[in-house]
Amino acid sequence: MTVRKITILGATGSIGTSTLDLVEREPDRFQVAALTAQRDVAGLAQAARRTNAQLAVIGDASLFGELKQALAGTGTRVAAGEDAVIDAAKIDADWTMAAIVGFAGLAPTMAALKAGRTVGLANKESLVAAGEIVMAAVEQHGSRLLPVDSEHNAVFQCFDHAAPGSIRRVILTASGGPFREWSMDEMRTATPAQAVKHPNWSMGAKISVDSATLMNKGLELIEASFLFPLPASAFEAIIHPQSVVHALVDYVDGSVLAQLGTPDMRTPIAHCLAWPERMSTPCRQLDLAAIGRLDFLAPDLERFPALGLAMDALKDGRARPAVLNAANEVAVAAFLAGRIGFLDIALIVRKSLERYDPPAPVSIDDVFEIDAGARRTALAAMETIAA
Ligand code: NAD
Ligand code: MG
Repeated sequence: MTVRKITILGATGSIGTSTLDLVEREPDRFQVAALTAQRDVAGLAQAARRTNAQLAVIGDASLFGELKQALAGTGTRVAAGEDAVIDAAKIDADWTMAAIVGFAGLAPTMAALKAGRTVGLANKESLVAAGEIVMAAVEQHGSRLLPVDSEHNAVFQCFDHAAPGSIRRVILTASGGPFREWSMDEMRTATPAQAVKHPNWSMGAKISVDSATLMNKGLELIEASFLFPLPASAFEAIIHPQSVVHALVDYVDGSVLAQLGTPDMRTPIAHCLAWPERMSTPCRQLDLAAIGRLDFLAPDLERFPALGLAMDALKDGRARPAVLNAANEVAVAAFLAGRIGFLDIALIVRKSLERYDPPAPVSIDDVFEIDAGARRTALAAMETIAA
């Protein structure tokens, strides 16, 4: 077996540490090139020491000295700052995990793709904001994008890539989040602590809130539309509280192929890490008899308006997904900081979409401009709500 050199962008997060867990279990199979993190110097330094990483980069430039000290006497090179994170994506590696959260992941992910890398993509926001441009970079530079997001990884495994014309629908499942059975009145006063307490998955704060609003599923429908060549109307979401079936692919002859597994991100991560081979993981074996039943129900767009906004953005295309994503990031951050209520998240996204409708981006610079414009619009919309 040839050794695979791995870079992890966002190594200290939920996806990053799950990736490290798998990489460290097979030291004969994987080596670590670069690891990056934004502020968690201790987590980054420990991971770099354990894996003997070539390079460790902290995004927050003011923490350079701390990181340098934490890795003194090791063979690991250290660097800091936004540009250094992008440079980390370019150093020689066979496989890159894109696991930075939010739009901040776009520039490093693009750098890895432009370097012709095979990229495991967890950072869905970069694809939502800049789907056409990211996919054009894959095409132009001969790089490869492997879907890490569990639903997209499930589709990837069931999708007949040689005959997309034989597929009529792709259906992504959603657990429904912690507020699946809550009324609007109950959700109005939901706290950040309640929102991040996901019933099935353990994840970072931002995606946990997105799962509670169902914006996560909306972002995922948009993400899927860029990864799999079908019309926007072919992508659907269904609520499935057990999170055992991750996605389904519906063929024209009536065959429906699904991928199942226990809700543990190490399964889709492993699928991408070893691809096109397979590797074993410590994930619990699926025990369907113990689970007993699998339920499915239609999403409720009245109680979860964020999903409807995302579905409209998917249908409309152009810059709508980028605006939706940026406004959502601003609103989720404000909710986590205790500045707005839970229901205000979708409200701010809706107002931002109403007030800001820039033309479709044709370059990555356009995407950055649209993102900045949408953030300003969302902040202004927040003022009117808070007032
Ligand atoms: P997280 O918050 O746990 O980790 C985020 C990582 O990104 C950390 O290493 C952090 O240091 C780094 N980071 C944060 N801000 C940064 C910035 N401005 N610049 C550079 N680095 C920065 O998040 P997570 O739950 O691991 O999610 C990461 C991505 O994967 C998200 O896009 C999320 O939607 C996606 N994803 C996560 C899961 C999951 O189970 N956690 C599942 C599917 C997809
Ligand atoms: Mg997912």
